[in-house]
Amino acid sequence: MEKKQFQLGDIVQMKKQHPCGFNEMEIIRMGMDIRIKCVGCQHSVLIPRAKFEKNMKKVLHSKVEGDSN
Ligand SMILES: [Zn+2]
Repeated sequence: MEKKQFQLGDIVQMKKQHPCGFNEMEIIRMGMDIRIKCVGCQHSVLIPRAKFEKNMKKVLHSKVEGDSN
């Protein structure tokens, strides 16, 4: 399976939507853990990278356009 690509500032869609009904999360911190912020309610949550990669469905908007890496 292809490894998911994401970077700081990306807007991603998760497999489960946020309780507020929105399903767009912005990556606001990258490290061993990933901090994502709900675009709908601005609530942020810190999750381990492995769990994030598992739960992330796809990148909706990438900050750097045309990045082929
Ligand atoms: Zn929310």
